[in-house]
Amino acid sequence: MDGSRYDYVIVGGGSAGCVLANRLSADPGTRVLVLEAGRSDYRWDVLVHMPAALTMVIGNPLYDWRYVSEPEPGLGGRRVAHGRGRLLGGSSSINGMIFQRGNPLDYERWAADPGMETWDYAHCLPYFKRLETCGAGADDWRGGSGPIPLERGPATNPLCGAFFGRVPPDHRRERLPPGGLQRLRPDHPLGPTGLGRPCLCAPGEGAAAEPHRAVPLPRAPRPARG
Ligand SMILES: Cc1cc2nc3c(=O)[nH]c(=O)nc-3n(C[C@H](O)[C@H](O)[C@H](O)COP(=O)(O)OP(=O)(O)OC[C@H]3O[C@@H](n4cnc5c(N)ncnc54)[C@H](O)[C@@H]3O)c2cc1C
Repeated sequence: MDGSRYDYVIVGGGSAGCVLANRLSADPGTRVLVLEAGRSDYRWDVLVHMPAALTMVIGNPLYDWRYVSEPEPGLGGRRVAHGRGRLLGGSSSINGMIFQRGNPLDYERWAADPGMETWDYAHCLPYFKRLETCGAGADDWRGGSGPIPLERGPATNPLCGAFFGRVPPDHRRERLPPGGLQRLRPDHPLGPTGLGRPCLCAPGEGAAAEPHRAVPLPRAPRPARG
């Protein structure tokens, strides 16, 4: 650092920090500094950018804070490993790329608290849609022009086909928002549970799709206004 002054200092260049930095610095008159404790997400680092290398970064001190829980009474006093990303991109640089919205019923419950009325699922849905570009195309529940491309997990193993083949059609979740629609559309025959292939952040050209790349941290200073 060179003694420069900033309008915002963001501590932590993880998922939230990078998205915030991107949005704030879109205003050319705003100077934003992101401080990240871990390493950079170097382009050459295949362990970060290759989805299949997930198991090599989790638990690795170069990429993971390697937290452990307190002794868990419900687990016979065992401590449980709790990975958190320690590099640019944070946990999204070491995560499983599964793109799963919360259960709509959780949003309804939050919205029931005083002052939280606009956190119900119907209010949040437009923001979810703005975030994503669904590979199967946009519809009432999925976005078509957001920064994060989505795809369905291939689930090509014959066992997956046999398993899903036994799921009653009413409980399949291929086009529907995760978590079901019951509270949004009380007349809908579907409940809030179901089975289907997971929705994933689509890896572009073999690389892991970290949200901080989809909504990138500006690498070079944006030009100052005036
Ligand atoms: C192993 C694993 C797998 C996951 N799989 C999925 C998945 O498949 N799908 C999904 O949706 N979510 C998944 N998640 C969860 C998801 O990645 C996180 O919820 C999300 O990234 C959290 O974002 P965040 O900005 O809150 O924190 P983080 O992304 O963790 O960012 C925090 C950042 O702050 C930095 N930092 C901490 N302390 C300091 C300090 N004092 N100074 C400077 N920097 C600091 C950290 O190094 C880190 O970069 C997974 C998480 C993990 C760990």
